[in-house]
Amino acid sequence: MTVAIYPGSFDPITNGHLEVAIRAAKIFDKLIIGVYATPSKNLLFNAEERVELIRQAITNMKNVDVQAFEGLTVDFARQVNAQVMVRGLRMTLDFEREFDMAMMNKKLYPELELVCFMATLRYQFLSSSLIKEAASMGGNVSDLVPKHIEEALKRKYQGKK
Ligand code: ADP
Repeated sequence: MTVAIYPGSFDPITNGHLEVAIRAAKIFDKLIIGVYATPSKNLLFNAEERVELIRQAITNMKNVDVQAFEGLTVDFARQVNAQVMVRGLRMTLDFEREFDMAMMNKKLYPELELVCFMATLRYQFLSSSLIKEAASMGGNVSDLVPKHIEEALKRKYQGKK
């Protein structure tokens, strides 16, 4: 059985992330979305909120699970017996950073294989930070995130006003 992890901040999960998860779930027996509890980023949603928002987004995906983790991604991979790590690649944003991290992860856990999915054209420029920026100013992001995420964003930003 091939277990894959899909690690990330997911603050919040977007349709771009979900599209990668759907494609990965077709290939691997089990996909575990790993939520970095404390990334070095300014977070809008805490770890429990991010996990819960993902949980609601994957209810129809039988072989996909979500779990928060702290520390090294490779340690999380070992813990859940994953052989594969999934990442998404957008054309302009991701390659160099992913390459660096892949080299380090290979050193730390040589048996873990990295599989990158090219982001589809319609989500090439979609990121959680852009979603937050748009939503914080009342922009309509309804075709870029699931409905419950749009509502969670509204609650956060309305609460802050
Ligand atoms: P991280 O802090 O690890 O970059 P993110 O939540 O930003 O966490 O992204 C998690 C993974 O999803 C990364 O591999 C990232 O490149 C990928 N990703 C982000 N946005 C998209 C998108 N629109 N399409 C495909 N993959 C994406």
